[in-house]
Amino acid sequence: MMQVDAPYSSFDDSEQFEDSSSWISDSDQDVKWSGWKRASPISTDPSPTEEKEVLSLIEICSKCVAKNHAFETVELYTPPIPDNLQLRIAYHSFPESEEEIRLYSCLASGSNDKFKQGEILAKTGNVHDVLQIGFHLSGVVTQPAPHTTAKQTFNIAITFDRGHITSCQCSCQETAAWCEHANALCIYRITRKDEVALRSPVSESLGRLERDQLQKFAQYLISELPQQILPTAQRLLDELLSSKTSQINMIAGAPDPTGGASAFEDAKWVLDEASLQENIKKILARFCGTLPYVMMDSNAAFLNSVPPVSQEWSNLLRSFQGNDPEALWNLLNISRHLYAKGDRNAAHLLHLITEECLLSYQMMFYWMLSYNSTSNQHAAIGRGRPEPPHMSLPSTHVLSRHASAHLMEEIVHLWELTVMSPYLDKDTKLQMKLKFEIWNQQVIESGRKGQGQGIAFNSRMIKDFPGFNGPLEAAEIDWDVFYQVLGIPQSE
Ligand SMILES: [Zn+2]
Repeated sequence: MMQVDAPYSSFDDSEQFEDSSSWISDSDQDVKWSGWKRASPISTDPSPTEEKEVLSLIEICSKCVAKNHAFETVELYTPPIPDNLQLRIAYHSFPESEEEIRLYSCLASGSNDKFKQGEILAKTGNVHDVLQIGFHLSGVVTQPAPHTTAKQTFNIAITFDRGHITSCQCSCQETAAWCEHANALCIYRITRKDEVALRSPVSESLGRLERDQLQKFAQYLISELPQQILPTAQRLLDELLSSKTSQINMIAGAPDPTGGASAFEDAKWVLDEASLQENIKKILARFCGTLPYVMMDSNAAFLNSVPPVSQEWSNLLRSFQGNDPEALWNLLNISRHLYAKGDRNAAHLLHLITEECLLSYQMMFYWMLSYNSTSNQHAAIGRGRPEPPHMSLPSTHVLSRHASAHLMEEIVHLWELTVMSPYLDKDTKLQMKLKFEIWNQQVIESGRKGQGQGIAFNSRMIKDFPGFNGPLEAAEIDWDVFYQVLGIPQSE
C-alpha cells in the first residue's frame, strides 16, 4: 500500500485510532482506520473469574426507559412513576461505555490524546467531588501545573440524556468541549459509577419543600455566595415583582439544568464543531498545498516513461489504494460508523466535511476536470487549443485529480445513501434536495476559481458534470410506493 511521504497533520492515521489514536496522522506508517474497538479495555473491568451481577427486573426496566424515553415523558406519565424509580432512570441515562467518549473526544481534537490524558487523571485519583444531580454531572479535576509542583483545579459540568453526553463545560476555558478534564470526569463516572453521589433533579427536590423552607433555601443560598449570586438574584426578584405580564411571570414553570430532556428533544452527542471545522480546513489546506507532490514515490520517475494508457491506469489504481487525504477518509469512515450506530450526528458530520471540501477551489477544479476527462468528453480549451485536459497536466497533478475525484465521489455516494433513508420525513428530504442544488452551483463556482494550468471549463463540460445529481435523483425515491407494492403498512 502507498506510503505517504509528506504527512498531513490530521485525522490520517488510521491504526492509531486503535491504540495511540488519531485521525490526524503525523507518522508515515502504512495503516488504515478500522474501527473503534479498544485493544485493551480500562483496567477496572472484572476479571474473567469474577461473576457478573444479575440485574433486578426494576433495574433492567429503568435502564431500558433511560435509554429510550425523554425524561419529560417519564415525569408526566400517569400513574406517576415513584421518585426512587425516576432516580434510577437518571442513573442509567449516563453512557455506559467509554468508546463513544473516546470517539467524540477524537473528533474534536483529531487524536485521542485528550482521552488518554483523561484516563490517566481518572486512574490516578485526580477526580474529586463527583456529584450527579438528575441529568447533570459535576466534578473537580486536579492536575499538576506546568513547570511547578503546585496543582491546578478545574470545575467541570456535564449534561446527558438517553446515553448521550449533550454538553461539556470546563473552567480550563479551552475552546474544545472535550478537554482532558471532561474526559476524566466521564471515565470516572463510567468506571466508578457506584461511588458517585446521586440526587434527584433540583426542581424535584424544591417541589418537596414547604413555603418557609423555600424562603430559607433562597436566603441561605444568597448569603453563602453573595458575590456570585446576589446581582442575578436581585434581577430575578425585580422581574418577578415587576408586573404580572412580565415574561418570567407569563411562562409556566422554570428552567432546571439538572432536569432531563423535553419530550420532543432528540438525544444528540455534543460535537465540537468549531474544532472539527478548523481541523478539516487544515487537512484540506495541507492536501491542496502539497497536492502535486504528496503522492510522489519511487515509481513516479518510472511513470513518466511508460505509455499514457498504462500511466493513467497506474494513477487510477493508486488513487483507489491510497485514499488520500487519509485524514478525510478516516472522517468519512467515522461518519459511516455513526450511520451504522444510528447516531444523529452522522449526517451532520458529513455535512461539515462536504461544506469544507466545496470551499477548496483546487479540489473542486480537479473533481470537475476528472469527470470530464474520464468520460471522454474533452472540450477543454487550453489557450485556444482543444486538448484532453489531463494530457496538459504533469503526472503528479493527474494523481491529485484522481485523489480529489475519488474522495468527492465517496462523499456523493454517502449522500445518496443518506437521502434514501426510509426514516427521513418529506420536509427534511426537500431541504436536502435544495441543499444539493446549492452545492451543485457551489462546486462549479469553486471549480472555476480553482482552474489553472491553462484549462478552462466550457458550458458543455459544466452541463455534463454530475456533481450532486446522484443524491438529487435518489431523493426522488418514494418508499411508500414500495410499501404499497409489498403490502407493508407504512407505520412499519
Ligand atoms: Zn478542562
